[in-house]
Amino acid sequence: MGLKETVKALEKIGFSEIYLTQGVSEKKQPKGKRELLEELFSSYRNCTKCPLHKSRTQVVFGDGNPDSPVVFVGEAPGEDEDRQGRPFVGRAGKYLNQKIEQVLSLKREDVYITNVCKCRPPENRKPTPAEINACFPYLRKELSIIKPKVICCLGATAAEGILGKKLSITKVRGQVRPYPYDPSVKVFLTYHPAFILRNPKSDGEFVEDMKKLKELAGL
Ligand code: SF4
Repeated sequence: MGLKETVKALEKIGFSEIYLTQGVSEKKQPKGKRELLEELFSSYRNCTKCPLHKSRTQVVFGDGNPDSPVVFVGEAPGEDEDRQGRPFVGRAGKYLNQKIEQVLSLKREDVYITNVCKCRPPENRKPTPAEINACFPYLRKELSIIKPKVICCLGATAAEGILGKKLSITKVRGQVRPYPYDPSVKVFLTYHPAFILRNPKSDGEFVEDMKKLKELAGL
């Protein structure tokens, strides 16, 4: 029972004067991750920091379990995500969900999924470096609230946004880098699920990477 409720209850049973020891106050509970994420999301719901705000239906926030040891980071919302307001809900999302279940033995809602850019680029083009830079502070804050063990970059755009340098995902997939803003967090690099849908031969490599990710995250 809080202080106000206690005072009311005491008044009801006849206490007319109540003395408080100096320093007694209602203790504030620290904010939980969900509350902090909701505050962050409402701070950029109407963001116009980059040109992508002109073509979006809505800003697409991260989604899932903020206590997950793994955060998956993709490129940007596509058409389905822009319409539904959730990341990875189209074909690529279905493929990713399947691998999360089959290889990590988890459900989609057990992990956290987000993007480096929170608004859909027109015609599903790649976000430009300027758009990624404009949006990155939101992702950085999001990651600092969640504090995952592993950030799994899905594709080169996510990896370049997080690591801040150009790379070829076919050369670095399956590798680990330190997260530049907190070296205790591992950045794991793999393909974007949309790439696997276009190149089904790489499915085996993606499964291999998911097995490594499982080990890295201690799942
Ligand atoms: S992509 Fe990011 S920076 Fe650009 S308008 Fe959307 S929320 Fe703002």
